[in-house]
Amino acid sequence: MFVSGRATILHADLDSFYASVEQRDDPTLRGRPVIVGGGVVLAANYEAKAYGVRTAMGGHQARRLCPAAVVVPPRMSAYSQASDDVFAVFRDTTPLVEPLSVDEAFLDVAGLQRLAGDPVQIGARLRDEVRDRVGLPITVGIARTKFLAKVASQEAKPDGLLLVPPERELEFLHPLPVRRLWGVGPKTADKLHGYGIDTVAQVAELGESMLASMVGPAMGRQLYSLSRNIDRRRVDTGRRRRSVGAQRALGRRRITPAELDTVVIGLVERITRRMRSAQRTGRTVVLRLRFDDFTRVTRSHTMARATGSTAPILAAARDLVAAAEPLIAERGITLIGFAVSNIDPDGAQQLELPLDGGRVETLDLDAAVDRVRRRYGNAVLTRGVLIGRDPGLEMPHLPD
Ligand SMILES: [Mg+2]
Repeated sequence: MFVSGRATILHADLDSFYASVEQRDDPTLRGRPVIVGGGVVLAANYEAKAYGVRTAMGGHQARRLCPAAVVVPPRMSAYSQASDDVFAVFRDTTPLVEPLSVDEAFLDVAGLQRLAGDPVQIGARLRDEVRDRVGLPITVGIARTKFLAKVASQEAKPDGLLLVPPERELEFLHPLPVRRLWGVGPKTADKLHGYGIDTVAQVAELGESMLASMVGPAMGRQLYSLSRNIDRRRVDTGRRRRSVGAQRALGRRRITPAELDTVVIGLVERITRRMRSAQRTGRTVVLRLRFDDFTRVTRSHTMARATGSTAPILAAARDLVAAAEPLIAERGITLIGFAVSNIDPDGAQQLELPLDGGRVETLDLDAAVDRVRRRYGNAVLTRGVLIGRDPGLEMPHLPD
């Protein structure tokens, strides 16, 4: 099979996911601006966004912009359940589902024409099913490539469906603002605006080396391809997750190194617990930071061997944070996350091998803690340092 000349890729994306779940479960919130989260905005519905409220904005600023907004605390377990329910609808639609996050996925419906109808009919039915079975609005973009399907769903939001016919792709793409190009965040958009470039059409007029000199080689190559509508990626299913991660928003308040260490421990414990329950080990620990000015950095450390054990991964995580300390002090952080990548899907056996004298005890300890938590819940056992501390929100995540 070749990448089809027909528009058979769906990008399905729930609208204002957390806020929609809140409105579904509390009818008094319907038709009103809703903000989920307190210190930091985790999600806002379209009514709140109309006032300029944005995800990751500080709570005070959000309330100033939209005093009428109802602010509700997040209910992560409800969002996890809703995510599972929506993915069940996706998988009932087609076996070719590629999750992008807890509330969006690509679906390839190329082979379903005779069984289920054309892609627009399938997309319309998918929207009805998500509405009926899960009670949430979802937007579907349909196109020949993944990139265009995602752009189409962004254009169709909220609660819409949009097909980009193959013969009209550039006509659709070129008038759009540069922010619509995959990977273009506020920083890259600002750089491009600085050169007087506002639309995709203007990007498409430039050569790759010119773009690279403006935004760096990797982004330059990406802009060159996407603005010319070159995207050969297929909907990619069945592959197991290549990393296991967790993150936490911190708000704009300054955080002490001791408080940050508490957050680091909590995140690493969540990640390693999930790795062990999925019987995975990994070698590379990745630190992600977002600063007050919305810039981000990533740092990573690759260990000598793969592990799913808390102690060595926590040690690597703390080293990464210590090395980033000057940056954190200078710029202030609003989000910290870790991921363990370089995942070995057959990690289970290695976990059971006593590799050296010092590590056996930690492995036994991890296993014992995991057993107790599985039986009595996560809250019964906690590290001394975490007692009395806010463990933070356990964000919904895709199955490992
Ligand atoms: Mg979404």
